[in-house]
Amino acid sequence: KANRKFHPDNTVIKINDNVTIGDGSLHIMAGPCSVESEEQIVQIAKDVKASGATLLRGGAFKPRTSPYAFQGLKAEGLDLLKTARRETGLPIVTEIMRASHIDMFENVDIIQVGARNMQNFELLKELGKIDKPILLKRGLSATIEEWLMSAEYIMAGGNDKVMLCERGIRTYETFTRNTLDISAIPIIKKLSHLPVIVDPSHASGKSWLVEPLAMAAVAAGADGLIIEVHNDPPHALSDGAQSLTPKQFDGVAKKVFGLKKAV
Ligand code: PEP
Ligand code: MN
Repeated sequence: KANRKFHPDNTVIKINDNVTIGDGSLHIMAGPCSVESEEQIVQIAKDVKASGATLLRGGAFKPRTSPYAFQGLKAEGLDLLKTARRETGLPIVTEIMRASHIDMFENVDIIQVGARNMQNFELLKELGKIDKPILLKRGLSATIEEWLMSAEYIMAGGNDKVMLCERGIRTYETFTRNTLDISAIPIIKKLSHLPVIVDPSHASGKSWLVEPLAMAAVAAGADGLIIEVHNDPPHALSDGAQSLTPKQFDGVAKKVFGLKKAV
């Protein structure tokens, strides 16, 4: 079902009246790695909206490497995202970690499946049964074939609203957190009809690399970007090193929208 051979037309996913992904326009999902407080998420939402972001990201359930690290505000985080959506009109994108939470995510606009759960096939099968856009991140060391098969798991159940998110893969290089696989963008476009979103934040792990990677992604044909933005990166509860300030995000957004006009 994800194969372009049998479905030549691009999948276009309408999120609301202002946001349609996969129609040739460029969308930026921006916001903090983790929702931390009402003031934090509402302020960031207003700031990124003013810079041109059309969706708000923010983690409520966080898959952290250490069990002692901040695990997210959980259900309260989801409520705060909805508050920020009410205040700004931005649709919300947030990560799910287990199938038993699907009911809790009913009011979320896009459900993110994180890299660590890309091959949680039971979760994918359950997400296949609902009518909700899914942002499927590429696994930490997943091949393109494996990633597409995970999309297939969701689509096989009847949910065809799948977006693929390239967020860097593990290589021998340690300078960056991951290695952004730019070639995955045209390859996915060739093999599949699904929209491609690129995450230069998790791909690089460094805020100063977000702009050049975002530019490269847009030049290579990405339908959207997902970028971490924090009001106070040094004190962020997760992923501060890769988070842009709202002001830095404004500069990146101007550059990528300018480039999009040119390509
Ligand atoms: C995130 O988006 O904050 C996240 C945990 O991403 P990934 O699953 O790509 O590591
Ligand atoms: Mn993060």
